Amino acid sequence: MDSTVGAPQDVIPAHLLKGQKALVTGANSGIGKATAIGLGRAGADVVVNYVADQESAEEVVREITSFGVRAAAYEADVSQEDQVVAMVDRMVREFGTIDIMVANAGLQRDSSFTEMTLAQWQKVLDVNLTGQFLCAREATKEFVRRGVVPEVSRAAGKIICMSSVHQLIPWAGHVNYASSKGGVQMMMETLAQELAPQKIRVNAVAPGAIRTPINRSAWETPQAREDLLKLIPYDRIGDPDDIANAVVVLASDLLDYVVGTTLYVDGGMTLFPGFATGG
Ligand code: NAD
Repeated sequence: MDSTVGAPQDVIPAHLLKGQKALVTGANSGIGKATAIGLGRAGADVVVNYVADQESAEEVVREITSFGVRAAAYEADVSQEDQVVAMVDRMVREFGTIDIMVANAGLQRDSSFTEMTLAQWQKVLDVNLTGQFLCAREATKEFVRRGVVPEVSRAAGKIICMSSVHQLIPWAGHVNYASSKGGVQMMMETLAQELAPQKIRVNAVAPGAIRTPINRSAWETPQAREDLLKLIPYDRIGDPDDIANAVVVLASDLLDYVVGTTLYVDGGMTLFPGFATGG
């Protein structure tokens, strides 16, 4: 970050999402954490979902409440239907409603294809795809029940799916992950088409390489960093705030006419950088 210009999120108005209630899954780490904090900084009340490590979730809650908004940490495994139903019910009871669902929780279980176990395949599909389906479905029920409240937002609700450049770029050794994100793209677009008439906006953010615990091995050593930067025309690894800023703006009425779109936030990784000097 260039210290002379300040953090870009400093220019996001603190009232951009005022009066809105957001839930972010997997919000005690990495991208989810930055996103939950970013939504709070922009004026939303925020539920911080976590599946493990309550203390780190409570830390995120403390940081969000320092902006003068409400926040709470809710434990739930997004791949378990009963837990997702209970989580959204609890939010509606305790916060009154939900306006923004950020289906962010995700994981990797990497393996070469023939070595990949059914358990590795299933776990990644359960969390990355079924988890997003369950979270989107439960939020949608509340959006439809409540409808548009014009003083709060032009939309009845916003769903933002955390996808990946691997909804587009095949990824050897990660067939479970790439398949889950390919599924997220088609789920998101289908939901966007189905729900737009009810004034529900469904979109996705597709991060490139962002420095978080999920991909530590890709940026931890100088050699790994050098290899990774060859894939990024903009020549820097992303920060969680790069994604958080995109989610905040996408969730706001500034982008009210954006429906069914994937916003790639990837420093140009999806531009086939190998063709910059060849092909
Ligand atoms: P991370 O490991 O820091 O965070 C993932 C979060 O999901 C953690 O809080 C984890 O506890 C949570 N989680 C895992 N299983 C869960 C479950 N069953 N229920 C609830 N929460 C669960 O990684 P991250 O990089 O912040 O990843 C966040 C999202 O961004 C994921 O969907 C990931 O696929 C996506 N993504 C990340 C990158 C990147 O470069 N970091 C790139 C593309 C996409």
